[in-house]
Amino acid sequence: MAYLQESLSASQLQYQLQKTADFLHLTRSHEFSMAAFNFEVKCTQNSSKAKVSVLDTGIIIFEPLNHTSSKDIVLSSAVHGNETAPIEICNELIKQLILGKLHLENRTLFLFGNPPAINIGHRFVEENLNRLFSGAHSQGSSLHKGQGEVLINKEHHRALLLENTVKIFYENNNYKERNSERFHYDLHTAIRGSKNDKFAVYPFRHNKSWVKEQLQFMLACGINTILFSNSPTTTFSYFSSNKFGAHAFTVELGKVKPFGENDMTNFAGVIGSLTALISGQPLALAEYNKEDFSFFAIDQIIDRHSDDFKFHFSDDVENFTDFAIGTVIATDGEQEIKTQKAGEAIIFPNANVAIGQRALLTVIPVEVNPE
Ligand SMILES: [Zn+2]
Repeated sequence: MAYLQESLSASQLQYQLQKTADFLHLTRSHEFSMAAFNFEVKCTQNSSKAKVSVLDTGIIIFEPLNHTSSKDIVLSSAVHGNETAPIEICNELIKQLILGKLHLENRTLFLFGNPPAINIGHRFVEENLNRLFSGAHSQGSSLHKGQGEVLINKEHHRALLLENTVKIFYENNNYKERNSERFHYDLHTAIRGSKNDKFAVYPFRHNKSWVKEQLQFMLACGINTILFSNSPTTTFSYFSSNKFGAHAFTVELGKVKPFGENDMTNFAGVIGSLTALISGQPLALAEYNKEDFSFFAIDQIIDRHSDDFKFHFSDDVENFTDFAIGTVIATDGEQEIKTQKAGEAIIFPNANVAIGQRALLTVIPVEVNPE
C-alpha cells in the first residue's frame, strides 16, 4: 500500500511534529521533500533547552542551547530503505528528544537516508545509495544549458543532499572554536543472517591508526566483529571519515525484517550506547582486550561481469561463513571464483546486482594494533 503523500506548510509540519514527535511518519508522508522549520524543546529532567531544525525530509538536527557540546554526532539509517531496525531505533531517540524525555548533551544530526525506498520496503528505488558517496553521485551526470548539472536519478540527488548536509553540520561556523570530535555511525541490517550477528565495517583510514576507544564503543553496542576496509569506497561512512576526520563505521545490526517485527531487546547494547553518547552519560566501555573481538580484512572483491553469475553456496549461508582453500564459491560465465586463503569467508553476497557492480566480498582473519 502506498504511503499517503501530503504537502504541509512549515507551520503545519511543526505543529504535527511537536504533537506526535513521530519524525519517521512525517518523513514517510513527504518522501521527496519537506519545508524547513525549527523550534525549541526543553528537557523535562533538567530544563536544558535544545534547538530542533528540520532541514528537509528525513533530515533533523538537535543542538544544545545552554552549553557548547564537545561532540558532533551523525546517526544515519535507511540508507537502505528496508533496513527497519535502525530506523526504529533512531525514530525512538528522535521522539524522546522532541518530547524532552532525553537530555541532549551533544549536537546530533539524524538522517533517514532514502525515504521513497522506506515506503516501498525495498533496499533502494533505482540505485544503491551506499555506492554513491564521495562524488560518485555526479559520475554520469550531464550538463544542460541553463540547468547546470543534471544528476541521473533521485538517489544521486539524495546522496548529494546528504553529503552537503553532513558538511554543513560538521563545519557549522558557530562551532568552529570548539574543536569538537566528530562521529558518524551509519546504521544498517544485512540481507542475510550472520554467523557474527552484528558487525561493523571500519572505513579505510589512509594509514592513520585504528582507534581503540571506537572498538570498545562498538563492543558496548554489542558488536564484536570488525571488518577493516583497506581501500577508499563510495560508502557514506567512508565519506565522513575521509572528508571530515569523523570516527565513522558502517554498522550492521542483524538481519532485515519488516517494521514492527524487530525484537528490540536484541538492540539493547546499541540503544543504550547511542543514548549515552547523545545525552553525555558515561559510556560503559570495557577495558580493551583483543580476545573479545573477531577482526577481518577484505580479501577478494568480486564484481559481476556476466548475465550468467551464480553462487555455489545456498541462499541461507550466513555472512562470515568460511570455506576451505580452493573451494569454488561462484561462477561468472566461464570463470570460476575460488577461495585462496586460510579462513577465507564470504560476506555481502548479492547475485542480483547490476553487471559491473560488486556481487561478493571475501574476508580473512587479521590481527590489528589499534591505538
Ligand atoms: Zn544496508
